[in-house]
Amino acid sequence: MKALIIGAGVSGKSANKLLKRHGYSTFLLDDKKLFGHFALERFLKGLDLVVVSPGVCMEHELVVNAIKNNIEVIGELELGARFLSCPYIAITGTNGKTTTTSLVSHLLSCPVGGNIGIPLTSFAEKMGEGDIVALEVSSFQLESIKCFKPTIAVLLNLAPDHLNRHHTYENYVACKLRIFENQDQNDIAVINFDDAEIEKFLPTLKAKTYYFSTATEVVGCYCKGGKIYFKDYDKDPKFLLNASEIPLRGKHNLSNALAALLVSVLSGADIEKLRERIHNFKGAKHRLEYIAEINGVTFINDSKATNISSTIVAIRAMSEPTTIILGGSDKGYEFDDLFKEKSPHIKNYVVLGQTKSKILEAAGRQGVSNIYEVNTMKEAVKLSYELSTSGETVLLSPACASFDMYSCYEERGEIFAKIVRELERSENRKVSNKKAQKVSP
Ligand code: ADP
Repeated sequence: MKALIIGAGVSGKSANKLLKRHGYSTFLLDDKKLFGHFALERFLKGLDLVVVSPGVCMEHELVVNAIKNNIEVIGELELGARFLSCPYIAITGTNGKTTTTSLVSHLLSCPVGGNIGIPLTSFAEKMGEGDIVALEVSSFQLESIKCFKPTIAVLLNLAPDHLNRHHTYENYVACKLRIFENQDQNDIAVINFDDAEIEKFLPTLKAKTYYFSTATEVVGCYCKGGKIYFKDYDKDPKFLLNASEIPLRGKHNLSNALAALLVSVLSGADIEKLRERIHNFKGAKHRLEYIAEINGVTFINDSKATNISSTIVAIRAMSEPTTIILGGSDKGYEFDDLFKEKSPHIKNYVVLGQTKSKILEAAGRQGVSNIYEVNTMKEAVKLSYELSTSGETVLLSPACASFDMYSCYEERGEIFAKIVRELERSENRKVSNKKAQKVSP
């Protein structure tokens, strides 16, 4: 058996290893250029399977040719799912995938994989019949499924994204909806009742459907008067917990938590255990992540906010006076919308990075004057701290990608957290020195 794997990133390498373990002779290609000296048609003829990594689109020359030659083409997710012998939960949507999938994994204490950075092919075979797996799945991965059939499939929300890959919003939505494609009446579909875009596009589903809502009493999970309930078909609602017990900020995270709680209840989790577990969920890293509190000033890392809409979501989640650190690499947009979001809680803006002058110009146009420029993250943290008093927050939520100063948003977040912890140590030293001076004669 011969297989070609296109894309030699984490997923491609993992798919390659799995196929080798199962007796395939494999070719792992990072780029079609590497393929140049092969006679394409002849090479493809000997193949039984082509596996595409999520980063490779179905319009890739090799994929198109393989399909023409009647060779089976599947994605890495599909390959992994074929080796799973247990039920699996799949979570998709434009926003909130990582947060919701991490929370499901935390609540059910089950393995997590997929788009979250752990390829399914790297652990699928290790799962036993009694296990359950939580998978974050992207539109890129859903584009290349065939038999992928989650026991529970979740659609969090829909908004235009990745149009460079999918060309149109309709194509993108069609990929997302494929999560339900192979489900039958024994499976479960979980839908965000509050999302008008989902309502516009959702077809009739074969799976039993449950909803979650932050405002409406639905069959599924909902929030009413600050309390969260689960309601099954033809049953009375059951109280689960108070919304205030969810240790995540913002209405968007209430929505994510409702989805995760619903999935967990439907998977048979014990309600008391869910309450206990949710209390110690730390949130996904780099997404409104609590870092430290220094002399009453809270530091939050939201480095994953690489566009304006994410930063607006973060601003809306703040309920105390906040100094926000903005700026990064330039994606070509203007920042006026950020300042039009007139939050009563944003006290100061501190800007750095490649987009600094663009942000300052937008602030000027929108009449915002409480804005300060710095050159480094260290300066940004120091100044933000100086501008804050006890009970306030410093929020890194850049509204920009990180590539001007860092290799990725994760690195930016790690560096921010490191600087904050250094500041914490230096402030603690000051306190202990003062105490030492007081006790010495
Ligand atoms: P994804 O994995 O889909 O990118 P994340 O959980 O990593 O989603 O969250 C990324 C960002 O998306 C967050 O920092 C927040 O700004 C925004 N976000 C998260 N959940 C939601 C939601 N339910 N609705 C709207 N925006 C959200």
